Amino acid sequence: MKQPTSPPHPPSVDRILAWPLMQALVASHGRVLVLDCLREALELWRAGSVSDEAGLTQAVQQRVERILAPSMQPVHNLTGTVLHTNLGRAPLPPEAVEAMVAVALGASNLEFDLQTGLRGDRDDHVEQWICRLTGAEAATVVNNNAAAVLLVLNALAQRREVVVSRGELIEIGGSFRLPDIMARAGCRLREVGATNRTHIHDYVEAIGPRTALLLKAHTSNFSIEGFTKALSEAQLADIAHEHGLPLVVDLGSGSLIDMQTLGLPAEPVVRRVLEQGADIVTFSGDKLLGGPQAGIIAGRADLVARIRKSPLKRALRCDKMTLAALEAVLRLYADPDTLVQKVPTLRLLTRSTDDIRRTAEALVPALATWTGSDFSTDVCEVSSQIGSGSLPLERLPSAALRLRSNSPNKRQRSRHLRELAERLRRLPQPVIGRIADDSLLLDCRCVEHPAVLRGQWETGP
Ligand SMILES: *Cc1c(COP(=O)(O)O)cnc(C)c1O
Repeated sequence: MKQPTSPPHPPSVDRILAWPLMQALVASHGRVLVLDCLREALELWRAGSVSDEAGLTQAVQQRVERILAPSMQPVHNLTGTVLHTNLGRAPLPPEAVEAMVAVALGASNLEFDLQTGLRGDRDDHVEQWICRLTGAEAATVVNNNAAAVLLVLNALAQRREVVVSRGELIEIGGSFRLPDIMARAGCRLREVGATNRTHIHDYVEAIGPRTALLLKAHTSNFSIEGFTKALSEAQLADIAHEHGLPLVVDLGSGSLIDMQTLGLPAEPVVRRVLEQGADIVTFSGDKLLGGPQAGIIAGRADLVARIRKSPLKRALRCDKMTLAALEAVLRLYADPDTLVQKVPTLRLLTRSTDDIRRTAEALVPALATWTGSDFSTDVCEVSSQIGSGSLPLERLPSAALRLRSNSPNKRQRSRHLRELAERLRRLPQPVIGRIADDSLLLDCRCVEHPAVLRGQWETGP
């Protein structure tokens, strides 16, 4: 039975599509999408919540815009974690972006040797740079460092044993656990030592006819303190080589330069780890290196050749844009004098606290106006982190915009902060901070263009 209050039938679809505003939508977004959205919007008409041309057109337009809004978009990383995995880790230098665009728009010599006219190898574009910067004999690159570890273990140790210290059976997050990766790589884990201490004899006693290699994993996201013992790369390399085995080191981040010369906490330098006798090292492209997501495998030429021949290499390889970006970033390492200024990750990590504080202070008025009288805004000292498991305990002194609710009620304050965080996320370029100590903190270490932020607060809702 039809209710007497039922809204009148909407006009026919053809008539609606002839409305000038609908025609404009079709002209800019195409008939298929507009028609889909119109069918949905007509439900509103039937439900009685829309009853005229203006209302229906607006409903269609809103749906079209919602569908077409890009899902992935730039945000302002004000979390204080420079290499934030959830926010895309290393920002790329313009040189890398230009290199990506150059090869993305058309054909390139990705696997083509321009000298001989024969087939080339995609690793060729970066291998010489990696070797030059690390002293390695050879190198290859895959999708990320987790893939690098998987590939190396599979290529060098399938159906055999890998000896690892119990103190290094790490979980990196996002379900990267060394024991799981090892199982997937088809090798057997031979744990040695205890969580806090592993000795030379532990390794020596574990080595047998089925042993393929010794693995050392950099414990990048935690630290064990107190009564501890782990062997150095040099000691492990000696044990491995005495038994005719390779030593593989998963460095996680690693670094191509000595971070301490930049006033940053120490991080293993790839070249030194190879000099100490590691036969293969793996490390990430988008951690301290400051490049695109990639997993770099470097070391002995015969082992790299075996790794490269694995069918898994084909499955885990990088695309042309990644390789173009990586090559461009590695090229910046050729000049240590300009490196820190040109690689954004290094530039952000080495920013002076004064500089960050000045940026924060300059943003206070616009932010205070935008947040309104429910909040008080000031600048406070905070600690930034490097992130991505690099140097987990080390903190870099920084400055943040601090927003505190003026409510006397604690629960209300905490709700205010969550709502404010949400408002910040709804800005045209969302602003991501962190809530701590009854405050919303916006660490300004990664703010290099304050005008963009200020503009949003001056005009934004
Ligand atoms: C980060 C990390 C990985 C994983 O590297 P991705 O590039 O994120 O895949 C593996 N091992 C260690 C020790 C790490 O720190």
